[in-house]
Amino acid sequence: MTDLQAKLAQHTLNIPCGNCGEKVAVTIGRLKEDNHLVCSGCGASTTVEHVEQMERDLIGAVEEQTAKIRALMSKLGK
Ligand SMILES: [Zn+2]
Repeated sequence: MTDLQAKLAQHTLNIPCGNCGEKVAVTIGRLKEDNHLVCSGCGASTTVEHVEQMERDLIGAVEEQTAKIRALMSKLGK
């Protein structure tokens, strides 16, 4: 696991319940272990699909931002 993955594992997502729309807060790390959620509003259980894909998308977005910041910093440094 990379540092970034470890950080993302702590990141909380708000997944809307498929039944009542209530947002259920859960960390990515928890979803990777168990992708079943129980809604705190109505008690319905939801299976969150594509957790790995979500993680990859987030990593891509973070890396893109990091690259932009680095480019900006090097411009400012000149
Ligand atoms: Zn619900």
